[in-house]
Amino acid sequence: MTVDIKTHEPESTAMRFEVLSSALKEGTSTAARVGRLTFPGRRPIDTPNFIAVTSRGTLPHVTPDNISKHLQVSGAYFSLEDFVEKSQQNLSRPPPIFSAPTSTNHPTPLYSFTGTPSHITTILAARRLPAVPSPIGNSTKSISIFTNTGFQNLSTTEYLSAISTLKPDIAIPLADLTNNSPPGTSPTSKRALRMAERTDEWIVDWFTSPLSTSTSTFAPVLPIPYPIQWEYLSRLAEDYLPTNQLSGLAIHDPDIIPDLSSHQPTLLSLPLLSLSNPSNPHLILRHIGLGTDLFTLPLTNAVSDAGIALDFTFPAPAPGSSPLPLGIDLSLLSFSTSVSPLSESCKCYACASHYKSYIHHLLQAREMLGWTLLQIHNHATLSNFFTGIQKSIKMGTFEQDRQHFSRVYDAEMPAGVGERPRMRGYQYKSQGGEENAGKKKNKPAWQKELAPSEEEGIKAGEATTT
Ligand SMILES: [Zn+2]
Repeated sequence: MTVDIKTHEPESTAMRFEVLSSALKEGTSTAARVGRLTFPGRRPIDTPNFIAVTSRGTLPHVTPDNISKHLQVSGAYFSLEDFVEKSQQNLSRPPPIFSAPTSTNHPTPLYSFTGTPSHITTILAARRLPAVPSPIGNSTKSISIFTNTGFQNLSTTEYLSAISTLKPDIAIPLADLTNNSPPGTSPTSKRALRMAERTDEWIVDWFTSPLSTSTSTFAPVLPIPYPIQWEYLSRLAEDYLPTNQLSGLAIHDPDIIPDLSSHQPTLLSLPLLSLSNPSNPHLILRHIGLGTDLFTLPLTNAVSDAGIALDFTFPAPAPGSSPLPLGIDLSLLSFSTSVSPLSESCKCYACASHYKSYIHHLLQAREMLGWTLLQIHNHATLSNFFTGIQKSIKMGTFEQDRQHFSRVYDAEMPAGVGERPRMRGYQYKSQGGEENAGKKKNKPAWQKELAPSEEEGIKAGEATTT
């Protein structure tokens, strides 16, 4: 690849993206790169990095003041469907967030309604991450979104109107994704072709409508093979990149990046945001090796909910006799007497102030501070992980460090045996992402009273089926 990937600075907004160092130049096989994404008034985001994923308008378990005090994250992902009630059919009765008053500290309704600190870069998309699959398909003009009270349609026009009111820093236009099949299943080629055609039509509608100049567009790249969506991607490269209307790409499957590099190399001057929800740090590293700049990691919230404290560093330490776990399950009884921090090397508030046994106790008591402390620690672990990656790419040792990391650590994250926080609406919906796997993690609060003999029979049955 010979394209000069230096700076992308759309005229319509003051967003700036610079590629500072690319491992490609050192003649290695990796496309990993270090960059910096800057919005006026926000903290610059050094890439590769990750964006915190909100749920129902907040980072789960962490209040906005604690985000400022204890988290290094510089970006947050919001979904419009989290703010819409079904009774606000077709947004004709706008959700309250639309009329939230603004101030210097909270420059737009999205900031003022959610209390998001003004140094955080905001990304607004239509759907949650991971999205709850919809039983209704998308139509030619709209997608199906999961509101607080049920599914409803959202058209490009309605979505654009929401974007121009809420004014996020980054907006991701609508994509025609497969709503009703579980993640990981590929659409048929006929369906994939329709996905590409509709997304292409919608992007034309998007860019022909007047969009607020303070919002940058990160166009979706569909999780289907390049040859099926090449027309859509060439339109992005030929029509909207030269006019500076396009500011970035929101990629559903980073495995398409090598194809972009071969066929549409100019698109790689843009920041590449992955929406792929990798399930472990090995996959994150693989996607960075392909050239991904930014990640949304809903995994972080799921891991904290599961009572897991992440425990890995990049570069990895010297290998032991067996692979190291990627995290520790604080709900295990073995931690009930441990007076050491979650991680010896971590400097976060949770590690500086508390012991494993205390967090174990909070989880056992289902006291919400337990999950708050885990969120602070897990976000700190990931921030340190990405800082280590940036240094490694700059030093030209990323590929060796990545291979070493894969030898030192377990392949998968521990599952976590403890009870989760109170189940929320989106978690009841079956066959969603990982958190909606259809299996209830918590015991039911109420059940029929059984005679002791019956109870034992049920336990024996459970033991054979699990
Ligand atoms: Zn920590």
